[in-house]
Amino acid sequence: EQQIIRCVGCGVQIQTEDEKQIGYAPPAALEKETVICQRCFRLKHYNEVQDVSLTDDDFLKILHGIGKSDGLVVKIVDIFDFNGSWLPGLHRFVGKNNILLVGNKVDLLPKSVKYTKLIHWMKKSAKDLGLKPIDVFLISAEKGIGMRKVMEAIEHYRFGKDVYVVGCTNVGKSTFINRIIKEVTGEGNVITTSHFPGTTLDMIEIPLEDGAVMYDTPGIINHHQMAHYVDKKDLKVITPKKEIKPKVYQLNEGQTLFFGGLARLDYVKGGRRSFVCYFSNELNIHRTKLEKADHLYENQRGELLQPPRASYIEQFPSLVAHSFTIKEPKTDIVFSGLGWVTCNEPGAQIVAYVPKGVNVILRKSLI
Ligand code: GDP
Repeated sequence: EQQIIRCVGCGVQIQTEDEKQIGYAPPAALEKETVICQRCFRLKHYNEVQDVSLTDDDFLKILHGIGKSDGLVVKIVDIFDFNGSWLPGLHRFVGKNNILLVGNKVDLLPKSVKYTKLIHWMKKSAKDLGLKPIDVFLISAEKGIGMRKVMEAIEHYRFGKDVYVVGCTNVGKSTFINRIIKEVTGEGNVITTSHFPGTTLDMIEIPLEDGAVMYDTPGIINHHQMAHYVDKKDLKVITPKKEIKPKVYQLNEGQTLFFGGLARLDYVKGGRRSFVCYFSNELNIHRTKLEKADHLYENQRGELLQPPRASYIEQFPSLVAHSFTIKEPKTDIVFSGLGWVTCNEPGAQIVAYVPKGVNVILRKSLI
């Protein structure tokens, strides 16, 4: 009979199988008298939080818990994947608590983008998605852009109460919290063992000066993001690392764009017009005739059309077609987690292809 071992740091049940899941500890750690999970280990020794993911059920439990508590919720989204990194239904759980909406990775957007316009866009999109944040910010946690402002806002809106940082995996939550820790504490090891262990299952507690606590909640996996369908190497190709250079294509109807072998856009009808593509600079965009597109995909996926790489195409889901007519001027066709294409004039008939399970949506143009 197997004995349940718990982390002396956070109390979570220890497991040794999956590094990305909560409670992971390397098998060798079980030999020790007291076992500490990898997440707490990193916080204790490196002053660094590490993001782990939860099952949907566990995450809902945490959200329910926040709804019953009294504090400020800081919700982080990835501005490059706004819709894909959105946590649906958060407003149902947070109760009366205020929400600050923070768009991270703003360093990826072209420098020409006006922050005020983008913040306005975020407010409107949040409202359309059923959330009314008390304020909205744009930051780059990695580059340190906008951090002071958002930290001041957190201090202002928390009214001495606790802070809950939420977001789905990969939005940059750990980077954000680690930067706050650095800004507040300097390099020193200020989160001392006396503040440790945290007591709340599944959450990391970062003590604030006045005795309140900032909680780092584990991220939930949004299953409909492209990131979950490619392997690590290909993920590097599709994840932008620096400012995106938009690529403009003048298309005639009956032309197709392939985004690697991951997604495809058929321009079916609407005369000659331009399409502006916002994807990782490393992602190869291939233009062809619509009538040749199926054949090209069959023959060239994993080769000319990659990612996914040849060794990975067997596991990759088949592409599913979604038909749209663009009705509004300045519309983005968004391939969740991969990027988007802006169509400036209405009237185009298009078909967007994404792997089965990945979302594709239309939205009012972000830029
Ligand atoms: P978490 O899963 O939400 O905790 O996300 P991480 O903090 O682990 O970050 C996920 C990925 O996004 C990492 O590859 C980070 O380097 C990257 N990242 C985080 N913040 C930024 C940012 O401000 N700009 C850019 N370009 N990348 C970022």
